[in-house]
Amino acid sequence: MFGAVVVGIGTAGWVRIRDMLAPLPGSPAEKLNVKGFISRRSLDTQQGVSQISLEEAMSREDIHAAFICTENASHEDYVRSFLQSGKHVCVEYPMTMSYKAAAELWDFAQEKGVILHEEHIELLTEDFKELKKEVEGKILQEGTLHFTGGVLKPGFGFQAFSGIARLTWLVELFGELSVTAATMEEDSGTNYSKLTAKLLTSDNRPLTWVEERGPGLPRAKNINFQFDSCTLTQIPPAPRGAVGIFMQDLIQFSAKLAGQVSPEELQREKTRILHCLQLAERIQQLCQS
Ligand code: NAD
Repeated sequence: MFGAVVVGIGTAGWVRIRDMLAPLPGSPAEKLNVKGFISRRSLDTQQGVSQISLEEAMSREDIHAAFICTENASHEDYVRSFLQSGKHVCVEYPMTMSYKAAAELWDFAQEKGVILHEEHIELLTEDFKELKKEVEGKILQEGTLHFTGGVLKPGFGFQAFSGIARLTWLVELFGELSVTAATMEEDSGTNYSKLTAKLLTSDNRPLTWVEERGPGLPRAKNINFQFDSCTLTQIPPAPRGAVGIFMQDLIQFSAKLAGQVSPEELQREKTRILHCLQLAERIQQLCQS
């Protein structure tokens, strides 16, 4: 069994506790046992789980893993502290707000001999799985992914990082990318922002990523992918999966803890995550220069 703690009781932290209390039967997630949660607030028990201090979580021998579910700006410090204490870490995306920090944390995890896992539930949705099937085997000419959503709370960071899930979709669909241009429109008075990044596939096919946020904007992803054979303008509708996306991620993390994931798969994931963070950083630099 692996004892675990959840850090940060927001939406994601609450779901992590729920899923560990009722793991998918027969899955490696049954090996996780939630021992407590950590919060900067003083809270009552959550779903029957008690609050413990960060120091206690880091020193207890029956706690082997931590879920970092706080706002993005604080991920790096929590991840580093738990790795330092020899604990496995599952961090909600994005792991850090810079490529360099993520690369360092990965080296540190390796040095400590523990698992570092970044959650990517956007790859586990039925919508994405259908889209990936549709795209497979087609030759891209050019494409756009336009995301809209409401305003994020403070601490979620620059849009290329808070929106890393969209970048991850593009990389999973079309392979490694490079950034050719990026701009940011912002109106602090109305809390509106629009990031536009111009990307290129390794075959020099252009992709545009737009990340637009503002009060009242619906959460939506619009696509326009032009292939040699057809154009996709809609994410193929897919029925909800039988297993929730956070539960699927919990199963992936626990499978890693149980040594059930091959080194090749771990390496493939690490390469993708670091590549996406590198793209996010380049986009930020171009927007701010
Ligand atoms: P959230 O805003 O619900 O919580 C974020 C942080 O704010 C947590 O540390 C929480 O303890 C704190 N918080 C929440 N309510 C508070 C309050 N009333 N007073 C003081 N502090 C409070 O954010 P979230 O959606 O849980 O996101 C956490 C992390 O998970 C982020 O890194 C995000 O990118 C990631 N994530 C979330 C989802 C999701 O569906 N919610 C999906 C993928 C990744």
